[in-house]
Amino acid sequence: MTADFPNTKTVYGPVPSWRFGESLGIDPIFHQSTCSFNCIYCQLGNIEKITNEIKEYVPTSKVVEDFKEILDKKIDVITYSGSGEPTLAANLGEMVISLKEMAPEIPQFILTNATELGNPLVQENLKNMDKVIIKLDAGDEKTFSLVNRPAEGITLKSVVEGIKSFRKSYKGSVEVQTMFMPIINSNELEAFANILKEIGPEYVQLNTPKRAYPLSWHRENRGNHLGIHDHQISNLKVITKDEAIEIKKKLEKMTGLNFYSIYK
Ligand code: SF4
Repeated sequence: MTADFPNTKTVYGPVPSWRFGESLGIDPIFHQSTCSFNCIYCQLGNIEKITNEIKEYVPTSKVVEDFKEILDKKIDVITYSGSGEPTLAANLGEMVISLKEMAPEIPQFILTNATELGNPLVQENLKNMDKVIIKLDAGDEKTFSLVNRPAEGITLKSVVEGIKSFRKSYKGSVEVQTMFMPIINSNELEAFANILKEIGPEYVQLNTPKRAYPLSWHRENRGNHLGIHDHQISNLKVITKDEAIEIKKKLEKMTGLNFYSIYK
């Protein structure tokens, strides 16, 4: 089922990103919230279509038309995210090439849950992306199932194997973004650190869900950093600043990697 929203564009923002400046969002999914995860903190609310089906969700020509309309704005980076998992879009690679032709100076990033990174078509689609930011929230299968609630057949192991396969061919920059939930216990940190070491990202961003969980999907939620809602929401428990500092210190020591924390 799809809903009618006032916002009919596949391009949204630019919205301020705490790390990358003015970020223009691209939504290659658009019609319905669609993802291979149904994360308990997702800013889209309960995902309407939980699937890992790769197909064309919105034509490239629609994204190109919407992009042309905002080219006069200040944009530091283009970020593919939007109404679900952007790597499910079979025409993602075509979008990247089209936008690069129109704005070669703007870097293009993607936020992905990494469930499809082992797929050769997705690897091909991502080859011209400047940065791939991978979501990784758990160190073991139990927390993975509880927090990310994946589509059938997807496990933490399959995701990590997919990332490792992707890393062999991808020449751009890889970062990890993690959403720490209070349910993660300290014993799991070591397992999480081991996975990070296997992946070897350039940076790891430590986040906690500061945005409320909407009880239903609204396209207007894409990039909503202002916390203004005209629909029902539920606030989530977050880790505190002290807990975040402690986790960052431990992970830095265990992995030797570079970390950013949302609590600066
Ligand atoms: S991966 Fe992203 S879009 Fe998908 S459910 Fe999780 S937070 Fe939402």
